[in-house]
Amino acid sequence: MVVRMRHTRAHTANRRSHHALEGARLSKCVKCEALHLRHQVCTACGTYRGKAVLKVTKTIAKTEKRAAAKSKTTK
Ligand SMILES: [Zn+2]
Repeated sequence: MVVRMRHTRAHTANRRSHHALEGARLSKCVKCEALHLRHQVCTACGTYRGKAVLKVTKTIAKTEKRAAAKSKTTK
């Protein structure tokens, strides 16, 4: 069977030339000016549009404590 409506490879490639993905949209944090994903909390300082949402320092201290405890038990 012959495909009557078939496009050439060049035709398909021309159409797909606009299909490339763009990079993630980043915006500057209002508070610390670090780059973060749009509409998401700044992971550097834990704020969203200037308001504190996450307790970053607390979680960092917690993870460090856990890591220290883990390294002690493995030794
Ligand atoms: Zn920030």
